[in-house]
Amino acid sequence: MSQPLTIAVSKGRIFKDALPLLAHAGIEPLDDPATSRKLILDTSVPEVKLVIIRTTDVPTYVELGAADLGIAGKDVLLEHGGNGLYEPLDLGIARCRLMVAGRPGAGEGPGRLRIATKYVESARRHYAAQGRQVEIIKLYGSMELAPLVGLADLIVDLVDTGNTLKANGLVPLEHIADISSRLIVNKAAMKMKHAAITALVDRLREAVSQAA
Ligand code: AMP
Repeated sequence: MSQPLTIAVSKGRIFKDALPLLAHAGIEPLDDPATSRKLILDTSVPEVKLVIIRTTDVPTYVELGAADLGIAGKDVLLEHGGNGLYEPLDLGIARCRLMVAGRPGAGEGPGRLRIATKYVESARRHYAAQGRQVEIIKLYGSMELAPLVGLADLIVDLVDTGNTLKANGLVPLEHIADISSRLIVNKAAMKMKHAAITALVDRLREAVSQAA
């Protein structure tokens, strides 16, 4: 008998891009999470269920074993720290860059910089590696506003096309990390459900290489 598997995913960009990869692995949700209010979705594979949660909660569910697997952005994993998780596969979806941005020339002078970001840990590590003392201001959204209203000198945010920065008179200044979504696996589940999980990872790896 096959073993039951639970996969944690968030709605939106990552889910949309992950659907064709999951479909290649034979997994298709029976409900559309965009319209359904269900938080646990059955799939075309009776043993496989999807749990629909916020993207920042995906590593927590997987680390604590509430989901066997998950799909999460590397940005979220860098903040979480990745303890208790395996990260066997880069899904190559929802690609973007984590960058420092600001007004042209911002942050060049001496003095302690103020950095507004949702990515506190990544920002802290970035400036620690440069040996710069900065003040980090945690925000939950609309980081681009912070330099415009004098809340911060710089922001650390995800950049895809750069259009959002441009529309607000900001420019990318420093590259911190390339970001894409990763498959993550609970360490205990990897042992207990080894056959089912490695089979799924293999099929997803094949889907990723065909999509490339
Ligand atoms: P863009 O204007 O294309 O550079 O997109 C930047 C905006 O979209 C920022 O507000 C980002 O936080 C968000 N964004 C871009 N790429 C991603 C991604 N892969 N995952 C989540 N948010 C993203």
